[in-house]
Amino acid sequence: MMIIMQNNATPAQVENVIKHIKDAGLAVHLSQGVEATIIGAIGETHALPTEIFETLDGVETVQRITQPYKLASRQFKPDNTSFSVRGINFGGNAVGVIAGPCSVESKAQIIETAHAVKEAGAVALRGGVFKPRTSPYAFQGLGEEGLNYLAQARDATGLPLVVEIMSQVQLDMMRDYVDIFQIGARNMQNFNLLRAIGETQTAVLLKRGLSATIEELLMSAEYVLAGGNTNVILCERGIRTYENSTRNTTDINAVPVLKSHTHLPVFLDPSHSTGNADYVSSIARAAIAAGADGLIVEVHPDPANALSDGKQSLKPERFSQMVKEVGQISQILGRRLATIH
Ligand code: PEP
Ligand code: MN
Repeated sequence: MMIIMQNNATPAQVENVIKHIKDAGLAVHLSQGVEATIIGAIGETHALPTEIFETLDGVETVQRITQPYKLASRQFKPDNTSFSVRGINFGGNAVGVIAGPCSVESKAQIIETAHAVKEAGAVALRGGVFKPRTSPYAFQGLGEEGLNYLAQARDATGLPLVVEIMSQVQLDMMRDYVDIFQIGARNMQNFNLLRAIGETQTAVLLKRGLSATIEELLMSAEYVLAGGNTNVILCERGIRTYENSTRNTTDINAVPVLKSHTHLPVFLDPSHSTGNADYVSSIARAAIAAGADGLIVEVHPDPANALSDGKQSLKPERFSQMVKEVGQISQILGRRLATIH
C-alpha cells in the first residue's frame, strides 16, 4: 500500500503515518521523490482498509500497489533509480558498459584486460572467481586468489569490480573486494542468497534466470530491496527457448517491459544471450536502442585459449569498436556513455 503525502505535509505528519504503519505490523519504506513523499506500507495489507490512513493529517491519497512486487515497481517509485559506485553512476542518463573476462585466469590476464577495457570506454571490470559451470570437472575459478588479482586490477585502473557470488557463505570473504555483486542466472531464485545480499549496501547486478519470467525477476529483486538494499541493477542475459542456433535467445522485449514496470536500472548481457562473439555487437546495439541503461560484456585478450566462455568473448579491438557504436546510438537517444577519469 502506498500513502502519498500532500506536498506541504509536515515532518510530524509523515512521522505519524509511519507510526500507524508500524502499529499495523507492516514494514515502512519512505521514498522522498522529486514530486512527492510516498510512504510504502509493505506486508500483508490486503485485509487492511485504506481508510485507516486516508483520514490521517497530511495524507493526499492511499493506493494499493497492484503488482506482486512492491518496492521494485514504478508505481511505488516513479523516478528512475540511480546510484554511484566508486564515483561511477549506474542507472542515470549515462549508459554504463561493464566488461572483462568470464573468469579471472591469472594476474597478467586480468590486468591486461582491465587496461584494455578501460581504454575502450568501460566503467567497471567484470571477472568471475567462483564459476557456476555445468560440469564439475570444468574450471571452477581461482577463488580468493582471483579476488586479489582483481583488486590489483582495480588499483591499476580505478575500475570498480563486478564479481559473481554463488553462495551466502562467500559473503564475508568477498565483501572486502567486490563493488557490485553479480547474482548469476542460476542463482536468481536462491532466496537465502538474495536475503543475505539485501542486508548489505553493496550494489547488485541481478541476472534473469534461464527460464524465469520478467515478473519472477522482479520478485527476486524485491527480496533484495525488502532487506533495505536499493542498489540493484537488473540484467537480461537471454532465456532458454527452442531455438538452438544461439546459446540463449535475447529477450529484447524485456528491456522496455522492465523499464515500464520498474524504476531499477536495466542492463543487458549480449555475451551470454547470444553465446557467439560474432553476434555480440549487434545485440549490444539493439539493447541500447531499446532503452537499456547499460551492458555487461565478456572481453578476453586471447578468446581461443580462454578457460571459460571463449567463444562468446570479444577481443579488445572488437570491443572498442562495439563501444563506439553503442556511444553513437546513445547520442541519438539523448544519452551518453558513462565515463571514468
Ligand atoms: C557469467 O556472467 O559469466 C555467467 C555465468 O552469467 P549467467 O549467470 O548469466 O549465466
Ligand atoms: Mn561467462
